[in-house]
Formats: sequence, C-alpha cells, structure tokens
Amino acid sequence: LPPVIAIDGPTASGKGTVASLVAQKLGFHYLDSGALYRLVALASEKEGIDVNNGPALGQLAENLQISFRGGQIFLGGEKVTQAIRTEANGLRASNIATQPSVRGALVGLQRSFRQKPGLVADGRDMASVIFPDASLKVFLTASASARAERRYKQLIAKGISAKLEDLLQDLEERDARDSSRGASPLVLAKGAQVLETSNLSIDQAVQTVLDWYQS
Ligand code: C5P
Repeated sequence: LPPVIAIDGPTASGKGTVASLVAQKLGFHYLDSGALYRLVALASEKEGIDVNNGPALGQLAENLQISFRGGQIFLGGEKVTQAIRTEANGLRASNIATQPSVRGALVGLQRSFRQKPGLVADGRDMASVIFPDASLKVFLTASASARAERRYKQLIAKGISAKLEDLLQDLEERDARDSSRGASPLVLAKGAQVLETSNLSIDQAVQTVLDWYQS
C-alpha cells in the first residue's frame, strides 16, 4: 500500500495548510477529510435533514455525489468550494460528525484517496481510525488564542468582519465537542508526534513534518 502521512489536530490549527504543502513538496495526493464532513453538512441542509437524524444523514453520506476537480469542490455538479467554508457550515459539520452513521459512511471514501505515490491526510481521526498504519502520525496543534488570532487575520484579509472573542469562543466549543464526542474523538493517536505551532511559521511547520518523514 502507498505510504500515508496522517496529520490530525484541532480546528484552525493550520493543519490543512501544512498538510497540503507537505503533499505538494512530496508530490503526494492530499485528503482534506474535514471537507467531506462539511459536504455532508451542506447537503443535509439543502435537503432539510435534521442534524440529529442519524439514519438519514448516514444514507446521505453514503450516496454523496462529490468530485474534486482543479482545486474546486463539487456537490452534485454544483461548485461549493466557498459555501462549505462558512463558520455556520463548519459548526453544522461538527454536529453531524458526531453521528456514527456518518463517520462509518465516509470510511471507504477516505481510504480510496490512498494512491501512489502516497497520501497526506488531514483531519481528527486520520491516525487513530482511518489510517492506523500511517508511516508518520502528526498531532498538529497551537494554543486556542493563537488559532483564534490566525482565523481572525484570515477573515479580515478576506474583508469579512469578525470579533476575536467570538472566534475564540467558537473554537473552544468546537474543540470541546470534537474531543469529548463518543464517535472517533480527537485524541493523540498511539505513535503520534506532537507538533506545537503557536510559535512556528508555516514553512517551519512544513519543514518539521518533512524532516520527520524523511528521518
Ligand atoms: O477540519 P474542518 O474544520 O474543516 O472540519 C469540520 C468539522 O468536521 C470538524 O469540526 C470536525 O467536527 C469534523 N471532522 C471530523 N473528522 C475529521 C475531519 C473533520 O469529525 N476527520
């Protein structure tokens, strides 16, 4: 089987940026597993399915019509690259992600990204559940305040107004839900190495992962 680098961590830790750059450097495929939960969240909203309706959500996740083309994400032919990234959809994603039916439905899809020459996968349970045999397992994190500040700067740069305290509160709520839920909580997987990035640049974080992989 092709090698996998699993990068897990809390929301807004920068793991997506780091994971996609590592994939680029190595010429590996990249899986943003959070995007899949975001897609299920968006699709369920469009279809009017309640976030607590496990069976209907599971069926929806099982039959998701998605494709990734040229850096864009499509849901049943509609371009949803931006739509899945809103704060509201992220919160909905973290709700529907507590449903074991949804998590189970996405296992095969996630594993199908493991192709030659290799894969970098980011999420919450890449190392613990989806790719327990990963060659390298990284738990990438940063303090809640560092993460809130990064998200704040991103939003402001995009011309979206935001309040730092609201972002911090939202991050803390999402961390609590992601790490305390019964189904695949965000945990430090066996064999995972912690990369604390509060005081690291993106380049330094990317280089650290590459060094760990190559050593
Ligand atoms: O990583 P991102 O913020 O895009 O993920 C959105 C939500 O999807 C997370 O808050 C988390 O609850 C859920 N998720 C998950 N397992 C993953 C990736 C994301 O439960 N592997």
